[in-house]
Parts: sequence; C-alpha cells; structure tokens
Amino acid sequence: MIFRQLFHADTGTYTYLLGDEATREAALIDPVVDNVEQYQQLLKQLDLKLVVALDTHVHADHITALGALRDLTGCTSMMGEPARAACVSRTFKDGDVIRFGKLSLQVVFTPGHTDDSYTFLYRDGSKLWAFTGDTLLIRGCGRTDFQNGDSRRQYASLHHKLLALADDTVVYPGHDYKGWTSSTIGEERRFNPRLQTKNVEDFVELMANLKLANPKHMDVAVPANLACGKQR
Ligand code: FE
Repeated sequence: MIFRQLFHADTGTYTYLLGDEATREAALIDPVVDNVEQYQQLLKQLDLKLVVALDTHVHADHITALGALRDLTGCTSMMGEPARAACVSRTFKDGDVIRFGKLSLQVVFTPGHTDDSYTFLYRDGSKLWAFTGDTLLIRGCGRTDFQNGDSRRQYASLHHKLLALADDTVVYPGHDYKGWTSSTIGEERRFNPRLQTKNVEDFVELMANLKLANPKHMDVAVPANLACGKQR
C-alpha cells in the first residue's frame, strides 16, 4: 500500500492518501481545500488515480476539498449519512466497506464529537489501522460542545468501539496540535487523559469544563462543508 500523511499547518489537520500499488487507485481521507494543488501534484508524481475522497465528519475548522476534487478528478465524494450533505456523490453508514483498487476501508460509526463522526479501518495483513477523525486524537479527543456533539455518545464511541480494537491497532487522527503523528490503541488506552475517567459521568464533566474557544474559521467552514467546500 502506498501511504502518505499530509498536514495542513493552519488548522493542524491531517489528510491521508492511501493508494493501491497494483491498480494505482487511491483514496484521500479528510482533504483540505487549500491543499488541492499539492494533492494533485502528489497523485501525479506517484502515478495514482484518485477514485474516492471522503470526510470523517463535517469539519468546523477547515474547508473540505471534496467538491473541488470531484470537479477536478471525477472522483466519488463521500460523507456519512447523518451529515445531510446533499452535494456528495454517495453517503456511507456503519458497517459499509469502501473499496478502491484492491484496498478497502471498513466504516465504523463513532459519533460524539459530532453526530456524523466516523472511523475508517484499514487492514494491513494482521495489523489494523484506524483513521479516527476527531473521535480519538493522540492524548486527547475531539470536543463535544457544538455540531450536535454529545459527550455520552463520545464516551460510548471511545470505550465501546475504539478501545475494543486490539492494542496494536495503529491510530491516525484527524488533527494534531502538538507534533504527534500516530499512536496505537494500547498507547492511548494507557496515556490518553480523556480515557482515564472513572465512568461516563466523570467524562461528561471533564468535557463540559474544557472552556475552549470556537475554531477561528467555524462560521465559514461548517456551512461551506455542508456544500462540499463551496463558499457562498
Ligand atoms: Fe472536527
């Protein structure tokens, strides 16, 4: 598998390129509109054809490249069913399998950060990789205080779905602000402060007291992303 982790510095967003060596078909997870030229250049240099672009959820901090990439490359654009984004080619839901070339991603519904948050699982031989969006970050997790976020659902997604994965599952998050690039489920189980609460009530209280400022591009990003990145 051809794999690249790409970074949008302004918003600390990770975008992932996965490509099938045999068929040259590729997928982009959480692409950012500012970096469309870079993606196109890299796809060309690596001799890959983008067939699908997908978002883990509707983002509040950056504008998605789903619309631009579909226009430019003819790829399929996909968001989760609850996103209610009429502009995408197709939606996905829990249990779906998204195929490109001989590779595939398994879709797991992990709501809580937003009501449309998903994790994508990729199996590489005996090892699993989890693209967790903002559900699970490295030593953190996505906030739950807007976009129909819900700390109880986040707790259930983290503890019952993601921590149910094997400890050696590789974690690739949707963001990082501190320089981390990847982790494992076992590492997060032990060292992620958001996963150390005694019970769901403690987690709800922890999340309610974070006192975070709104993302700086939120007013523009959410409506634009529901239109696949087209700003009005
Ligand atoms: Fe987010």
